[in-house]
Amino acid sequence: ASKIITRSLAFSYDKKTLFESIDLELPEHCIAAVTGPSGAGKSTFLTVFNRLWQEFGGGNVSGTVLLRFADGLVDIYREHLPASELRRRVGMVFQKPNPLPMSIHKNVAFPLRLAGHRKRGEMDHLVEKALRKAHLFEEVKDRLRADARALSGGQQQRLCIARALMLEPEILLLDEPTSSLDARSCGKIEELLDDLKQSCTVLMVSHYQDQVRRVADLVFEMTDQTLIRSA
Ligand code: ADP
Ligand code: ADP
Repeated sequence: ASKIITRSLAFSYDKKTLFESIDLELPEHCIAAVTGPSGAGKSTFLTVFNRLWQEFGGGNVSGTVLLRFADGLVDIYREHLPASELRRRVGMVFQKPNPLPMSIHKNVAFPLRLAGHRKRGEMDHLVEKALRKAHLFEEVKDRLRADARALSGGQQQRLCIARALMLEPEILLLDEPTSSLDARSCGKIEELLDDLKQSCTVLMVSHYQDQVRRVADLVFEMTDQTLIRSA
């Protein structure tokens, strides 16, 4: 069964259409990548799935977005699903790593703390698990109390992935996760992406054609105001 389904999906702002007529079906546990020129609307497309575009103010989504969560299919623009609940199930990582001004441990624990989680021993275990999934644990295990901003760019991005994994999202949105990183760091992100498929369905934006060919199961291109399958 498909994890993500869109029907006649369109996004416009100021009476200008950014994209339209998008009919997409993504299976569970796949990595789907969206490529295309800068300004085509790729980032905005990602934010349709967690309704984050609403936080930017303007804009209008039309059509249907169905997400098949473990407990059922949800029509996220017609059924009542609070933003906090949607964003717990649909995680997102941005182009530029955005660690909070606190320790590595606190950064990763943050989403669970915010949700009211208090048990310390259990938290340590969950933080370790998330850092392992993000292929970062071995590099930072001796300095979990150090400020996260002291990490390299690539480590910071993996930290942000670990943080996003803390709420065990079923869907993970990645917006150009390697564009601010050097080649070696890119390689590390690519390795962990493949493991992520075990626990999530991944929808990513990347303008690196080579990367997309290496990591993605399905490739789409945003062009002429719509999304077309390219591999
Ligand atoms: P891409 O990720 O392909 O580079 P984006 O999704 O970031 O494209 O955005 C495409 C363009 O649309 C950008 O110029 C952005 O500023 C603009 N844009 C998107 N949504 C809005 C909005 N609600 N109001 C104004 N401009 C918007
Ligand atoms: P890119 O796709 O190149 O990463 P960004 O996501 O950084 O582009 O967006 C480029 C610009 O568009 C930013 O200034 C951002 O604030 C703006 N933007 C993106 N999406 C929206 C939106 N939905 N509404 C308003 N502005 C947006």
